Amino acid sequence: MSTAPVVTRFAPSPTGALHIGSARTALFNWLYARGRGGKFLLRIEDTDKDRSTDENTQIILDGMNWLGLDWDGDPFHQSANAARHVAVAHELLAKGAAYKCFATQDEIEAFREKARSEKASTLFRSPWRDVAEAEYPDAPYVVRIKAPRDGQTTLHDEVQGDVTWSNDQLDDMILLRSDGTPVYMLAVVVDDHDMGVTHVIRGDDHLANAFRQNLVYEAMGWDKPVLAHIPLIFGPDGKKLSKRHGATGASEYQRLGYPAAGMRNYLTRLGWSHGDDEFFTDAQAKGWFDLPGIGKSPARFDFKKLENICGQQIAVADDAALLHELKAFLAATNAPELTAAQAAGLLAAMPSLKERAKSFPELIDKAHFVLISRPITPDEKSAKSLDDVHKGILAELTPQLQNASWDRNTLETLVTSLAEAHETKLGKLAGPLRAALAGRTVSPSVFDMMLVLGRDETIARLGDATR
Ligand code: GLU
Repeated sequence: MSTAPVVTRFAPSPTGALHIGSARTALFNWLYARGRGGKFLLRIEDTDKDRSTDENTQIILDGMNWLGLDWDGDPFHQSANAARHVAVAHELLAKGAAYKCFATQDEIEAFREKARSEKASTLFRSPWRDVAEAEYPDAPYVVRIKAPRDGQTTLHDEVQGDVTWSNDQLDDMILLRSDGTPVYMLAVVVDDHDMGVTHVIRGDDHLANAFRQNLVYEAMGWDKPVLAHIPLIFGPDGKKLSKRHGATGASEYQRLGYPAAGMRNYLTRLGWSHGDDEFFTDAQAKGWFDLPGIGKSPARFDFKKLENICGQQIAVADDAALLHELKAFLAATNAPELTAAQAAGLLAAMPSLKERAKSFPELIDKAHFVLISRPITPDEKSAKSLDDVHKGILAELTPQLQNASWDRNTLETLVTSLAEAHETKLGKLAGPLRAALAGRTVSPSVFDMMLVLGRDETIARLGDATR
């Protein structure tokens, strides 16, 4: 293993949205690098011109930004490096580690047909592998690597352990197509090498590719990166996570209103463990994250657990930072922007709001009383508690509030003695107070609301309700 500084990369193909599994792969690479003073690079694998779009690239960048996964330097674009990929193929040709194959599609198909009828391996064995250059025809060709045909290849993987493949399972893979363009499998290796990638952490759907890519490392005599192929994410039913289970795109989770810190925490824990720790900070995750802690079997996405972690992260978040993220959530869902007064009210209310909210929609729901403005129209249910008797009682409260000192104890004492004076309970006054202050039967505690709204607004709302 090399002692060079750690360099990891996330290498998404911009052929679709940023899947939550890919986001976790990015996160693991980010944590591994950031926890070791290393570099985390982003490479957009856009060689498939038909399926790669700028729009998808933007969605990936937005998703990374939302999750707070910052990368070093500018993103690399694989397609921009095509000349270098071609050059490496030519270097392999020059070394005799690759060869020109002039077999036509028909010949390859005939080979396969024969192999099938003989129940032999259908991996194409090119007759051009050992033909001398002098005998080459003037015809179109592909460039193939010379793969070993006997023996076995063992690759060490930090998650999967030693994985062994029989070399007769490898074909002489194509490096350059007949139009001279490089294939993806070559591009990945050249780019990883040129970018100085020391650790390749990616989904285990790429494990088989590792054996093909290994051929290029061997032929070029390049240092190989440490490999860690992580199991995919399953849904709660043990099947590959898909739309059937719920949201699969990172941006969908943003629009559902989960905080980025909660997503990072939950996704880190999904398939990786550090003892029994479920809830942790970014600093702890960076310090603890390692490859042996990654599980060998697929993790199951647990929506309840995600919400639970998100709730805990919201509860400990900085108030101003939460407000900032909440504004971004509103923008992402095309909701109206907060007015300055609403933002100020939210910030003041944040300490009590964040206690039990698992997502931004929940937080906004609890914040209803600061987001609305006078005159408040109580909803049908809460309006019922504002009968004449209770309006009368609340009207008595107003003058007392004028001179009270504005703290929880005083307010509680005032309202409690008012209830006693009318031979009723504090709880019986809570309904009408809620109706007056929030227009709802469910809201934060009346004292929390009074403290956040302040004296003038509280008195004004009570005035509106008792008029
Ligand atoms: N572009 C590949 C993907 O999106 C990842 C390749 C790699 O990580 O080596 O699945």
